[in-house]
Formats: sequence, C-alpha cells, structure tokens
Amino acid sequence: MSRQDLDFDLVVLGGGSGGLAGAFRAAAHGARVALLEPGELGGTCVNVGCVPKKAMWLAAELADHVALASQLGFDVPASASLDWPTLVASRQRYIHGIHASYRRRLDGDGIVLLPSRGRLLDAHTVECGNGTRLRAANILVATGSHPQRPDVPGAALAEVSDDFFALHAPPGRVALVGGGYIAVELAGVLQALGCRVDIHARSQRLLSHADAELAERLQENYRQQGIGLRFGFDLAAIEGEAGALRLRDAAGNASDAYAHVFLATGRVANSRGIGLEEAGVELDARGDIVVDACQRSSVPHIAAVGDVTGKMTLTPVAIAAARRAMDRVFGGQPGARLDYDNIPTVVFSHPPVAGVGLTEAQAREQHGDGAVHVYRSVFRPMRQALVDRPQHSLFKLVCVGEERRVAGIHLLGEGADEILQGFAVALKRGITLADLHDTVAIHPTSAEEVVLMR
Ligand code: NDP
Repeated sequence: MSRQDLDFDLVVLGGGSGGLAGAFRAAAHGARVALLEPGELGGTCVNVGCVPKKAMWLAAELADHVALASQLGFDVPASASLDWPTLVASRQRYIHGIHASYRRRLDGDGIVLLPSRGRLLDAHTVECGNGTRLRAANILVATGSHPQRPDVPGAALAEVSDDFFALHAPPGRVALVGGGYIAVELAGVLQALGCRVDIHARSQRLLSHADAELAERLQENYRQQGIGLRFGFDLAAIEGEAGALRLRDAAGNASDAYAHVFLATGRVANSRGIGLEEAGVELDARGDIVVDACQRSSVPHIAAVGDVTGKMTLTPVAIAAARRAMDRVFGGQPGARLDYDNIPTVVFSHPPVAGVGLTEAQAREQHGDGAVHVYRSVFRPMRQALVDRPQHSLFKLVCVGEERRVAGIHLLGEGADEILQGFAVALKRGITLADLHDTVAIHPTSAEEVVLMR
C-alpha cells in the first residue's frame, strides 16, 4: 500500500456494535473508513453478550414450555433432557452468519477492515499491530469493555460471562456473584436448563437500576423456581479447586461447594494501553472516556461511543450514538446527538423485566410525593393460569402531575420484552394516562393491562 492509501477520513477502533454502526454510517456519507478489530466482528453483543444470551434464553423458555405442554396433556416428558452441544452448535451457527453478513457489508461499503489492535501514536495517527500507520482526520473509539473481577483472594478461580458462553456441557451447581443484569439473566437461564443456581449479591435486592417493586416480585419468582438468593453478601475470598469452589464472606463463613462460580460484578472500559491519554483524550477515575453530549472526547475530532464511555452501556445505545456522531461529522448535521433520556431496557430474566423512564423512587425524588401517581396491575397470564402455576405478572405506570403524564412504564412478566417497545415510543411522545385509556385494549393479552390500569 502506498502512503496515500493509508490516509482515512475516519479510523474506527473496535468492530463491535458501536464501531460497526459508526463505520457504516460514515461510509454512507462518503467517508473513507478503516476499521480495526483484532477479534471477531460484532464485539461483546454478538459474540459473548446479547446474541448468545438470547439464544440461551429462548432455549430456557422452551424448556419451560415443554413442562407446560406436558401439564396441558401433550405426550411429552415433563422435563425434557437437553443436548447442550446441539444447542451451542445452533447458537454458534447463527453467530457465524452474523459475522459473514458484517464482512459482506464492510466489503460492499468499501470499508477497509484491519484485523488488528490499534494504538494512537498521536491525535491523528493510529498504529496497527504490524507497525502499519494510519493517518486519520477523525477517530471513533468503540473499544468496549471487559468483565471486572473483585479484588479478593481466589478471584482468578472464578469465571466470567465470556466463560459461560464457552461451556460445552451444562455446568451443574453454580454460584453467581452480583445482582445486576448478567447475574439475573444467567441465573434464570441456567436454572431453567436444569442447573442449580445460587445468587450472592452484595446489595439487598436484585437489579438496583430497576423499579424496586418489580425486583421484589422477580425475587419471589426466582425463589419459586428454586434459585437461591443471598443478599448483603460481602465476598472476601474464593477458595477450593476447579469443580468444588466455595465463597467465603467477610464474616468468615464458607458457602456450599459449586462446580462453577461466575462473577457478574460489572464491567470496565477498554481504554488503557491504546494511546488515548498520550493523545490527550481525558479519562475519568473509572477509566471511561469523558464525552460531551455529541460523543466528542476532550480532543474534538476523536469521538467515543458505547461501553468505553460508560454511558448507558447497552448495545442499541452504542449504535444510536455512533450513527448520530457520524451524521454530525460527515452528514452535515452539526446538532446530531443521542437523547439519553427515556431509553427502554429489558433484563432477560424468567420472566423478563422491562422498563422505560422514571422508576417510582426516581419520580418521587424528582417531583415530590404529592405529584406522583402510581398504577399497578398484578395478574396471572393465561398460560400460567391454565396450569395453575403461581407466577404472576406485575405491570406498573408511574405518572406525574395533574395531567397524569406517563413518566415511567415498568413491566415484569411474560411478553414484557416484546410489549415495551411500542409503549416506549408513546412515553417519549409525552402521553398521559388518559391517552392510554383512550386506546382500545387487545383482548386477551398481557399487553392490554397497560391501557387498562386505573
Ligand atoms: P451490573 O452493573 O448490572 O451489575 C453489577 C452487580 O455487581 C451489581 O449487583 C453490583 O452491586 C455488583 N458488584 C459490583 N462490584 C462488586 C464487587 N466488588 N463485589 C460484589 N459485587 C459487586 O453489571 P453486569 O456485570 O451484570 O452487567 C454489565 C452491564 O452490561 C450492565 O450494567 C448492562 O449495562 C449491560 N448488560 C445489559 C443487558 C441487557 O440489556 N439485557 C444484559 C447484560 C448486560 P451493587 O448493586 O451493590 O452495585
């Protein structure tokens, strides 16, 4: 390649959801783009996150449906055995399809893919692993994050979510450390697929980001499913040997022995060792890249999106932020930026928890108790009621002011993951409770509860 070939309008560090979205959008605006990714295309979401997780979650749902079908009179065993390698092979085939489709799109859009780590030598120069140097008018940093391990003796004996996706057989008896998204999702999947799971969380409840009442009901559901929940757990050490690990708490108590211990204690930005600080890019104390509302770092032609910024670390947020940043840089839209308010999110627990807007506690804090009106519906979805199972759904609206503007929608129950998206549009448009009441219900569904709450 001649020197001229190595000049780009944009060099993207990281081929995950945010980096790819940014590269595609910049190319669509006519930019000459290079994208550096040393691993598989798709980053955490496609390879060790959302996509394989959803495949496992769908399998867990199926396991539950088999049991249900048996109770409804179908000639199937009440608990069907799963050939784990077949499930994993189907999951990985699906993921390879995504890799292939990304490669085709990159080729088609003329984006230069370099299978290498990149390091900034200065604010306009990126060096690849083989010493090749790229001159970049603009840089997009989308290097993602990695799991954080608590600093306790024996932490290296435990595994993280990446290791969960490398399992070739069901893991048996499992401890999960943490009470956030990953601990809750892995617990639900593993228990439904026949493992015995205990969650050890340092907080007093699961899902500290979610509405407290929903978290409580999820805890009830998890206990009914046989998942052990231990709160206020202060992890001091992990002991034992592979296949028989124990957690020791700060008071010196040892847990049961577990075949696997998975740490799900948050993630850390991949921001060190890639020349950011040398190029003048400011990091905060956690190591997240500091960005303004338009995703600009402290070096204006260096933007950052996704987990490396630590701002609402969700795949669709990274994608949306990257597209708008590239519309700003290359698309003649100087004001383009992502509105980080009212972003919907789903935890793929069993059943799922979906939420958008303010939780009840946040609404009370922001608007005062007198201005907050809460509506709830607790009901048993028909599928559960048909076989007389105890699992109930809890749907909740948080409304604010005389006009009852809908400020938060929180759903726990079957179908919550699919129901929320449309209502998130409505909430963002500023609807009121009266608008919901004005909408005719679709019967019989769980979703109708959202327009019927009084
Ligand atoms: P979360 O931030 O969701 O949860 C971390 C959990 O670990 C919390 O319960 C936290 O406790 C606990 N914790 C943190 N540090 C320690 C420690 N030193 N010792 C013991 N416990 C600790 O992180 P996850 O790792 O579960 O997930 C990472 C992120 O990935 C999520 O925040 C989310 O943004 C994203 N994600 C999104 C998913 C989705 O959209 N469905 C699915 C999976 C991940 P405390 O509450 O007390 O701080």
